[in-house]
Amino acid sequence: MDRQDFFRETEAAFSTLGLSALLTEERKEGFFHLFLRLCEENAKYNLTAVTDPREVILLHFADSLMAARHLPAGAELLDVGCGAGFPALPLALCRPDLSVTAMDATAKKTGFVRMMAEELSLSNLHVHTLRAEEAGHGEFRDRFDVVTARAVAALPILTELCAPLVRPGGLFLPMKGRNGAEELQAARHALQELKCKVEFTDEYPIGTGDAAQARTLFLIRKTAATPDAYPRPYARIKSRPL
Ligand code: SAH
Repeated sequence: MDRQDFFRETEAAFSTLGLSALLTEERKEGFFHLFLRLCEENAKYNLTAVTDPREVILLHFADSLMAARHLPAGAELLDVGCGAGFPALPLALCRPDLSVTAMDATAKKTGFVRMMAEELSLSNLHVHTLRAEEAGHGEFRDRFDVVTARAVAALPILTELCAPLVRPGGLFLPMKGRNGAEELQAARHALQELKCKVEFTDEYPIGTGDAAQARTLFLIRKTAATPDAYPRPYARIKSRPL
C-alpha cells in the first residue's frame, strides 16, 4: 500500500471511530513510518501476527487510541506487556501531554519499541525490559496514574500483574475483547484483594460489517495501596489465580 492510500485508509478508520481529532499530518507520517518499520522488522523476527495494512491501521493503531478519551491530560501512563508497542506507541504519538512508559518481558519487543521512540522522536516514551510482577516490588510500585494492558493475560492474572503498579487513586485500564463481561466476573475476587473497583465499562465495536469485533475497556480505580503480599511470583499467580 502506498503512502497516499495508507493516509486515506487511516483517515477513514479514525473517522469511523471518532478519532479524527487525534490525527495530524505529522502523525499520519508517523503511523506510516511505524507501519513500514513494523513490516520490515517483522520479516527478521516475530513481532506481531498483524501486518496487513488495513488491519495494522484498525487493530493496532486505531484500537490503541480508543483508550485515549479516558486518559487525563498530563497523566503518567504505564503499558504492561506492550509487545511491539500497543497501545504505548500510538498513545505517545497522538497524546504528547502523556508521559508513557512501555514495559515488556521480552528484549526483542522492547528493542523495537525503543527504536521507534527514537525514529519518531517521541521524547515522552520510555521503555523498560522488565516483568510486571518484578516491577511490582520495585521503584514502580504504587506509582502510575494509569496502567494499560492489551492482550497480555486473563483479567484475574492481569489484575495482579498491573494493579500493584497503579498509584492509589489511579486507574487500571485493561483493554479486552468480546468476553469482557465473563472475564470481569472471574476477576471479582482478584479486584477486591487488590483494592480495585470497576468505575465504568466502555463497550464498542471495532471494524465494520462482518469484520466487526467487540471490544471492552474497563476503567478500574485503585482505592488503596496494594497489600504487601502482592504481586506473588509468576508461577504462583498463574497456578493459583486470585
Ligand atoms: N500489548 C501488545 C502485545 C500483546 S502480546 C498488543 O496488544 O499487541 C503479550 C505481551 O505481553 C508479550 O510481548 C509478552 O512478552 C508480554 N508479557 C506477558 N507477561 C508479561 C509479564 N508478566 N511482564 C511483562 N510482560 C509480559
